[in-house]
Amino acid sequence: MLTQRQLFFEHLAQTSDSPIELEIEKAEGVYLYASDGKKYFDLISGISVSNIGHRHPKVVESIKRQLDKYMYLMVYGEYIQTPQVKFAKLLSDNLPENLNCTYFVNSGSEAVEGALKLAKRYTGKTEIIAFKNAYHGSTHGALSVMGNEDFKNSFRPLVPGVKFLEFNNINDLDKISKNTACVIVEPIQAEAGVILPENNFLIELRKICDKTDTLLIFDEIQTGFGRTGSLFCFSEYNVIPDIITFAKGMAGGMPLGAFISSKKIMEVFMNNPVLGHITTFGGHPVSCAAAIANLEVILNENIIENINKKGELFKELISNHPLINSVRHKGLMMAFELDNFDVNKKFIENCRKNGVIIDWFLFADNSFRIAPPLIISEQQIIEACKIIIKCLNEIN
Ligand code: PMP
Repeated sequence: MLTQRQLFFEHLAQTSDSPIELEIEKAEGVYLYASDGKKYFDLISGISVSNIGHRHPKVVESIKRQLDKYMYLMVYGEYIQTPQVKFAKLLSDNLPENLNCTYFVNSGSEAVEGALKLAKRYTGKTEIIAFKNAYHGSTHGALSVMGNEDFKNSFRPLVPGVKFLEFNNINDLDKISKNTACVIVEPIQAEAGVILPENNFLIELRKICDKTDTLLIFDEIQTGFGRTGSLFCFSEYNVIPDIITFAKGMAGGMPLGAFISSKKIMEVFMNNPVLGHITTFGGHPVSCAAAIANLEVILNENIIENINKKGELFKELISNHPLINSVRHKGLMMAFELDNFDVNKKFIENCRKNGVIIDWFLFADNSFRIAPPLIISEQQIIEACKIIIKCLNEIN
């Protein structure tokens, strides 16, 4: 009989010749439990999804309650489904006034697709501006705004009319013009290796968008839901976008994404053509039930208050090691830079052998990522960092 591992390679599409190959039997809180009995600290939350930990009891309970009512009824937007309505209202209560209308989808890429379409349709313009080293997803539209040639060259032609600017370069912003439909930006560039906006970059960006009637889209798919130390990252930089995208940490581990804008902007999907954006499973009621519990936990259980302190503790325990060249972080979205990819890869593999899961960034392979569940305790941070330091010491 073939082993589970053999069946994995035989029947599952592979996306690299070196998958991690961990066989996980159970996950709870900050831990993953493998079939060979080994226990791992999940310090990446796979990636930035399990913000309130794996299988949070309130999320599990909310899912079970919904399962007893209905699992699926109808494509997005036709029936009045309580979990969707309740969650959209809860989001609206926690967002600025102009972000009061939610379109639910299934994933981050899909949220980006919807946001780009919405901007083109609302403005009647076609030029899109994105940033070098940006990651917005892997579908055709999202890939078109990815700021990295290696990952998209083989899939051309992509969506036309996309220009790339340099993140944090205010001089580059004058390329935004009256012809621009939208600018899409991660308020903190994630896969670039946690690059924070500097010198009021986002404020300047907002000003130019206003001047040119360009819609500003914030991709908060990785930064949202507490990751950077506040519920949503835009609030840390005093800039409110016209459209915001979410996914990942939105539904406590269930698949859900959203693009959110004002009622006025969103209304363009109702005509010319009618059904301007369609999804069968978007806003799945079970995912929305999970998302309500997820957001209530984040809001009501003192999670946000402690994120910065926890980030600082990681920094204090790791960054003085002589092999660490620099640390870039906001809250619990952290990048630690080593000399090069080879050292980083060896170190990450050694961490895994020693029971700590970390990884590198798509466009910063000399840096390792720490993005644990936000509920990680100080004691757990200390324990995990002891292993990390031991593994750094073992690099030769
Ligand atoms: N935007 C950002 C900032 C992301 O980090 C990701 C996922 N890494 C996406 C979009 C795409 O999300 P998904 O993988 O759910 O399509």
